[in-house]
Amino acid sequence: MKIIYTQHELIEWRQSLTMPTSSIGFVPTMGALHLGHISLIERALEENDAVVVSIFVNPTQFNDSNDFLHYPKNNEGDLEMLKDYARLVIFLPATSEMYPSPEKEQFHSGLLTSTLEAKLRPGHFDGVITIIRKLFNSVRAHRVYFGEKDFQQLAVIKSWVILEKRSELIIPCPTIRESDGLAMSSRNQRLSPEMRKEAPFIFEVLQAAKAQVDTQSPAEMEIWIRSVFLERPLFRLDYFEIIDGNTFAPLAEWSDSSLPMAMIAVFLGEIRLIDNIALTEQSA
Ligand code: AMP
Repeated sequence: MKIIYTQHELIEWRQSLTMPTSSIGFVPTMGALHLGHISLIERALEENDAVVVSIFVNPTQFNDSNDFLHYPKNNEGDLEMLKDYARLVIFLPATSEMYPSPEKEQFHSGLLTSTLEAKLRPGHFDGVITIIRKLFNSVRAHRVYFGEKDFQQLAVIKSWVILEKRSELIIPCPTIRESDGLAMSSRNQRLSPEMRKEAPFIFEVLQAAKAQVDTQSPAEMEIWIRSVFLERPLFRLDYFEIIDGNTFAPLAEWSDSSLPMAMIAVFLGEIRLIDNIALTEQSA
């Protein structure tokens, strides 16, 4: 494992590779690593000669300064977790390295950047694209690995890569869950023991929704799931929506989509968790 702190060093490392044909995998993260991140890193190591993992809590993608302030950070623990992997380069830049002056670009891609996370977290995806462009330009990876846990982020990045005619191959990776079904997330560490006990309910609800596809319309399902959360005072539902996983358009009929997805964001106290499920078998 090699640690790099600046974009300049990263570009130098990239140029110094003795085999110019070596394939480079890239896993961008915000650190506080868990087994979800590790699954992406191990897949990248299987499919590439070398892998870059970035650890950077990107300030421009936080619409809520309190969330940014309290986002878990654990560089020491992260490096300890990665220390035994060969062929791994850790890119650990300071904020001033990535943002020598304040900036944020704008990215508009129809419904993708105006619905769900984009609507509830204004500017979030502009911040994601701002940092992804910088990181992609320094790493120049062949394949970049993203989790389906952040399903909309994955779609936004895929759409940006096509729009910008970039050569990186975007590789979606399945959501890794705790044994009780809770999707692994760095934010889970911030849950109180009581909240942590309740949190698997999010995935239970998604599975219950999936089991009812044959008996309810998308609109009925949305009303039902929203009502279920009214009986759980620890939770505050931000959204539960059924969309087409390709266009992100809301679904009127199941037959309108080959990839119906249930998307959820929910607050437990001030901790906001997201999850999703494909409502048919063919994907995610
Ligand atoms: P983050 O550090 O939360 O920005 O996540 C970095 C990458 O890891 C993103 O591509 C996420 O989608 C992915 N990721 C986060 N949690 C999980 C999970 N539970 N399973 C699979 N991938 C995940």
